Amino acid sequence: MIIAGCGPTGAMLAAELRLHDVRVLVLEKETEPTSFVRIVGLHIRSLELMAMRGLLDRILPHGRQRPAGAYFGAIPRPAPKGLDSRYAYLLGIPQPVIERLLEEHAIELGAQVRRGRAVTGLQQDDEGVTVELTDGEQLRSRYLVGCDGARSAVRKLLGVGFPGEPARTETLMGEMEVGVPQEEIAATVTEIRETHQRFWLRPAGVGVYSVLVPAAGVSDRSEPPTIEDFREQLRAIAGTDFGVHSPRWLSRFGDATRLADRYRVGRVLLAGDAAHIHPPIGGQGLNLGIQDAVNLGWKLAAQLRGWAPETLLDTYQAERHPVAAAVLDNIRAQTELLSTEPGPQAVRRLLSELMDFDEVNLHLLKKITAIGIRYDFGAGPDLLGRRLPDIDVKHGNLYGLLHHGRGLLLDRTERLTVGGWSDRVDHLADPTAELDVPAVLLRPDGHVAWVGDDQQDLDEHLSRWFGGPAH
Ligand SMILES: Cc1cc2nc3c(=O)[nH]c(=O)nc-3n(C[C@H](O)[C@H](O)[C@H](O)COP(=O)(O)OP(=O)(O)OC[C@H]3O[C@@H](n4cnc5c(N)ncnc54)[C@H](O)[C@@H]3O)c2cc1C
Repeated sequence: MIIAGCGPTGAMLAAELRLHDVRVLVLEKETEPTSFVRIVGLHIRSLELMAMRGLLDRILPHGRQRPAGAYFGAIPRPAPKGLDSRYAYLLGIPQPVIERLLEEHAIELGAQVRRGRAVTGLQQDDEGVTVELTDGEQLRSRYLVGCDGARSAVRKLLGVGFPGEPARTETLMGEMEVGVPQEEIAATVTEIRETHQRFWLRPAGVGVYSVLVPAAGVSDRSEPPTIEDFREQLRAIAGTDFGVHSPRWLSRFGDATRLADRYRVGRVLLAGDAAHIHPPIGGQGLNLGIQDAVNLGWKLAAQLRGWAPETLLDTYQAERHPVAAAVLDNIRAQTELLSTEPGPQAVRRLLSELMDFDEVNLHLLKKITAIGIRYDFGAGPDLLGRRLPDIDVKHGNLYGLLHHGRGLLLDRTERLTVGGWSDRVDHLADPTAELDVPAVLLRPDGHVAWVGDDQQDLDEHLSRWFGGPAH
């Protein structure tokens, strides 16, 4: 199995595949891991996934926990009541750190990562995919997943369409030192941020500030921004450049919003930024990629191990494409709210009022944190297709039972069995009083695949998700 790209999506996918003993080779274009430090936010569902795989304790010391308030359109609101998660906070963590931790985890589980190896070509046939690298070397694999980011070579080589909107605006972001006292900065910044949401100067370490300003226009991005670009834009908006100097790093990002029209072409699949791009408002891109990886990993593993039901792999696109489409939509809405035009500013004020209602606040928070997702598994109770929170179970907590990426039957009836599926699915009898249904079948990604109390019905659902019984 080959994965192109060792960003957060590729590393997470590699680890998920290794849980099922699949041989994994990750090809990464860059010779060194990224050093460009931007703080990303891990939202509730991603934190839950980390807990589900036993990774959270390793990650937490490297991040800063912040309250899980709604940040919709950068409108601050405290966390609403009724957040049913043990991990109801936002974890700010430098992207290079989360990438390193995920890569280390994948390697510990046995994935092979080869750096300085970019995928430049591919051909597929009935048995597998031939992957071509920069130096002409060819590798053969049964499947290939393009986790190679926004400008994905794999997506382009497949000829998969990437419809959406091109960048209309660009934003400069960087870290640098300033030449004026902190109090002077704070007062000016507070005043400007009343109308300009795409603007900040925030302390980011001793003597260093994180600076964000709109770029002068949309460029072809072949040239990296300079400190002079920052000075000009600061002067244009704030009337002063705050004496910025000695940049640590400078970058530019656009607000292009696009979604691949297919996630799978034969034996080649796309995940993460390779499949969807959008502006960073709400901090959802990395979260979405990690969640793609957890949705796809066990399905691909099932395919490779030979027990996947016929249509299992196609459920990846069926489930994740609508999720990404919904994220893109919430980002489009948030982007409008950042406009300095009077119309969007009025909508922003109205939405701010509405967010005082807990239900509105919770609705928006669920969109951003991905805890409201319900995959369409057909008709059934509301729980079907949703994630189960990390409830207390006999001898511990639920997510502690999902570290190995297997299915799980939580059975209060004490008469059900996973029979011929016990090599893929665990069974916990008399799990907990917190579960208010007779029994629940969980997929390896923690989503509810079945709710009921009838063995025959359960067997049908075990077959649907986990293939035929072993004997
Ligand atoms: C300013 C900013 C702030 C952000 N804040 C947040 C946030 O708070 N929360 C959040 O969730 N997201 C945030 N994001 C988005 C997040 O950074 C991305 O969504 C995330 O990095 C996507 O991960 P990925 O693994 O899919 O792709 P990438 O991180 O782009 O990784 C792709 C990897 O593939 C490699 N590669 C490329 N081409 C090839 C090739 N041909 N062969 C082999 N390897 C290749 C690349 O070198 C790279 O290592 C932010 C983005 C920006 C710009």
